[in-house]
Amino acid sequence: MDKQPLRKFYEKNRLERIQALEQAKAISAEDAALLEKGLVLPDETADHMIENQIAKYELPYGTALNFLIDGKEYVIPMAIEEPSVVAAASSAAKIINKAGGFRTTVRSRMMIGQVALMDVPDPVRAKTVVIAHEEDLLQTANEAKPSIVKRGGGARKLEVRLIPADEKAGTPAFFVVHLHIDTLEAMGANIIDTMAEAIKPHLEERTGGRALMGILSNYATECLATTECRIPVSLLEKNGMSGEEVRDRIIEAAQFAYADPYRAATHNKGIMNGVDAVVIATGNDWRAIEAGAHAYAARSGKYRSLSTWSKAENGDLLGSLTLPLPVGTVGGQISIHPAAGFSKRLLGYQNAKELESIIVSAGLGQNFSAIKALVTDGIQKGHMALHAKSLAITAGASGSEIDRVAEKLKQSGTIDLATAKEILKEIRG
Ligand code: NDP
Repeated sequence: MDKQPLRKFYEKNRLERIQALEQAKAISAEDAALLEKGLVLPDETADHMIENQIAKYELPYGTALNFLIDGKEYVIPMAIEEPSVVAAASSAAKIINKAGGFRTTVRSRMMIGQVALMDVPDPVRAKTVVIAHEEDLLQTANEAKPSIVKRGGGARKLEVRLIPADEKAGTPAFFVVHLHIDTLEAMGANIIDTMAEAIKPHLEERTGGRALMGILSNYATECLATTECRIPVSLLEKNGMSGEEVRDRIIEAAQFAYADPYRAATHNKGIMNGVDAVVIATGNDWRAIEAGAHAYAARSGKYRSLSTWSKAENGDLLGSLTLPLPVGTVGGQISIHPAAGFSKRLLGYQNAKELESIIVSAGLGQNFSAIKALVTDGIQKGHMALHAKSLAITAGASGSEIDRVAEKLKQSGTIDLATAKEILKEIRG
């Protein structure tokens, strides 16, 4: 990629940005033509995607720049309605790029299917029986979905979890069997559910219990992606604050989010701003990713921050984020939605592991920008400046009025709808 045409990307208009991406060789001429038309989801496709479809709900689709992940440059697609997220991601990525970029690890990509049984007469004995029949049960699961086995994936391991009754909460005991399944490039909901349901009757027979359900777990603890960055303090100076002070305040912000669930929820929301925007742009299931991320944040028994920020021995700022990221590069809407298809080509990822690396890095970058702003300027300065455009549109501005109203709003120091309306009235004479 030639980054030169991407300079001052935010100052260009939409068509100029598309041209710049083409000149930078980030996209092909065909994709530039497609983008100009607007990645439209055909009516017929939309009608078949959900039930009772009557319209299409659109989101802005932008690109975050400057991402360097494991030595590779990316232009990252983000589908999101919230102002400032794309700008924050790009600005964080620019600093982290100068510091050597993100380094990621994706250790395994195993999905979990659960079968829950109740009224198992002797759970301890039943556990031994189920474990003794692991091979047969895995075979039954794999026979239910031979195509994934043929591709090289399939059920690999079985685990039993005994959840005792809780009299205080009024819940009975559950006998839970986990299937660990390699779904290869798919998120795998349909593969997992098929396998979990296939072993249900066999588990009833072996445990003497009653199967309640068989379904995937979105708490994908066997599909974790980690990203890390290391930022020298020289890159952290801000508005007269030394790099050391900014670093220390970022670390304190992370400690606050670790200690307090009220702060942790907002800290993690900032991370998910980056994560969800890429998950949506790539056609993946953002509810699945959200559910898994928040369950992971509560893994210690208390809801905590998902990222950590600390000081390296030489004084650099160290950032780290681990998330369950059961995303796919095939299946679901990925091959159906034109925007998802375009995102795949824009990112040029080779496989789902690489996509996980990109998404988790977008999350950490977003988190860095948010807490850096919070502990220096405060979040409102940048956020409200970008929010001014939305207010201008809400006030009724169109065309060139939007930028004029937004600019005057920022200068006024009172960024609200009433002021936007007054300014618009003034401009219209
Ligand atoms: P699909 O069933 O659409 O796609 C997966 C299929 O793609 C595989 O079964 C396989 O079919 C085919 N495939 C082609 N190439 C590959 C490859 N290299 N690796 C793996 N599979 C390949 O989707 P998923 O099972 O991934 O399910 C995702 C969808 O499920 C999402 O839309 C999600 O919203 C939804 N969902 C989510 C739930 C949840 O999160 N709780 C619950 C239920 C549904 P074959 O081998 O037969 O060709």
